[in-house]
Amino acid sequence: MMYLFLRPVSKSLSIVALIVGLSSCASKDVSEEPSVPSLVGKNTGYGETSINGPVPQNPEMRLSSDFSRMSATSISSGSRSRKLIALTFDDGPNPSHTPRLLDMLRRRNVKATFYVTGERAANHPDIIRRIVSEGHEIGNHTWTHPNLKKLSDDRVRRELNKTRDAIVNACGVQPRTMRPPYGSMYQKQREWVYREYGYPIVLWDVDPLDWKKPGPSVVAQRLISGTRNGSILLVHDLHGSSVDAMPQTIDTLLRKGYQFVTVSQLIAQKSVAAR
Ligand SMILES: [Zn+2]
Repeated sequence: MMYLFLRPVSKSLSIVALIVGLSSCASKDVSEEPSVPSLVGKNTGYGETSINGPVPQNPEMRLSSDFSRMSATSISSGSRSRKLIALTFDDGPNPSHTPRLLDMLRRRNVKATFYVTGERAANHPDIIRRIVSEGHEIGNHTWTHPNLKKLSDDRVRRELNKTRDAIVNACGVQPRTMRPPYGSMYQKQREWVYREYGYPIVLWDVDPLDWKKPGPSVVAQRLISGTRNGSILLVHDLHGSSVDAMPQTIDTLLRKGYQFVTVSQLIAQKSVAAR
């Protein structure tokens, strides 16, 4: 409880709103707190969903992430035979939205994959450490987010090396996959990157275009309606409205029976299926 109340004021108020919502019969005085009603129902606080009942939980997923037998150099989905999906977050970490997102994921025991840019990783090593320590995966999303098709091989190498080093310096863990900015990469580049770094190139099959900021409920609806077995969902934790869409998205997909795994776990299942 001490931890919760040390958080910034607006989050503490959300927690107060939650407590008030749960105990309004018992304490009339507290429920008349004037600032509370305006915080409820705006989809801005991550505590809201539990007002409507228990938060759905991802079951403990202990899948192997060994994909050493993988031969393909790019992937946009996993095996379609099981209800496993991977939630991926690009272009972070962001100092206000990513920790909020991590709180949402932790409450649901949902593991995700973060394709971070090296520049941001170097600026926020504490968030990188938290991502890894809470069981998520980190992937290489280049240093400056360029279109790799326009770069020489040496420039691509520098982008990947600097980012890998920033991630390793922050948390001691090597990224195991990469995602090219804009999904843009020549097949030839995919092949030599896979040969040199061992990174499978990870794309996606569900794109809600959240960077256009259509609003949290639209983002959630697009993600939910586009998801099927093996899907890789693309979201940007750089934008607050994308993070606001996550409680509805995750809770609905959990209720539909999907289980959230990291990209490496999803790839491993695909290579198991292909054997
Ligand atoms: Zn990106």
